[in-house]
Amino acid sequence: MPTMACIDCGAVLIEAPSWQAMLVKMMPHYLEAHHDVIAGHSDHPKGAWMERFMAAYEAAEHSVE
Ligand SMILES: [Zn+2]
Repeated sequence: MPTMACIDCGAVLIEAPSWQAMLVKMMPHYLEAHHDVIAGHSDHPKGAWMERFMAAYEAAEHSVE
């Protein structure tokens, strides 16, 4: 199963079978440690963060194979 470190601090490692599940499992950590990243998303699109997240997840997925 892909294992991914938090892309903003690297302090937590989370494993999940899909990027969607990874996002869900990552959220509590973001709420606690990186609230600024996810706060105010209505006026600050999260596109750049999602791009980093997807790139990191894909790298984790490939390292499993
Ligand atoms: Zn973090």
